[in-house]
Amino acid sequence: MVNLPLKNGEVELIPTKIVAVGRNYRAHAEEMQSAVPKEPVLFLKPPSAIIGPDSDILLPPQTRRVEHEVELAVIIGKRAKNVSEEEAMKHVFGYTILLDLTARDLQAEAKKRGLPWSVSKGFDTFAPVGPRIVPADELAPESVSISLKVNGELRQRGNTRDMIFTVPFLISYISRIMTLEPGDIIATGTPAGVGEIKDGDVIEAKIEKIGVLREKVRRI
Ligand code: MG
Repeated sequence: MVNLPLKNGEVELIPTKIVAVGRNYRAHAEEMQSAVPKEPVLFLKPPSAIIGPDSDILLPPQTRRVEHEVELAVIIGKRAKNVSEEEAMKHVFGYTILLDLTARDLQAEAKKRGLPWSVSKGFDTFAPVGPRIVPADELAPESVSISLKVNGELRQRGNTRDMIFTVPFLISYISRIMTLEPGDIIATGTPAGVGEIKDGDVIEAKIEKIGVLREKVRRI
């Protein structure tokens, strides 16, 4: 699907699924006027939505409003099925950044009608990843800063310490529902400050110790 740098080489990222977590930061749940969840809110993004760094995010004709959500992405390294929270971190290969792009108008309509989010979250190019993979032992996911700029202007800023559900909890919880395979990605939710992206914008998503993921936006 996409090659990302890892140390002195490259890794081909071929997930069987992207499991995304909704409302995992209190301030974001509040800005969406959504309840703070008691259990993780999960949805899937298709692997076909993945693009690498320095690519084009394509805004499709079916939506009038696409929004950015910067997220810490966990890449699974070892099959995880029914793993405990204590064992969970042994199944992590590494970390990168994922942009969970969302057609907010379509999502709002789906929420109103009680329909799934698949359309609003699933367009091609709606899951940029990169700029590189950081090995599991080089990043502590419980406390890294996370931010996003649009055309140089700061829009989102947070820290993973504010996650409602931690990375080991999420791995354990998800693994009791669906087996996580090597290469699978968990997108762990976005901090507050989500907003619209437009044709011609330049997006820079940043996570401490990972780097900056840069993409351009183009309407098609
Ligand atoms: Mg999200």
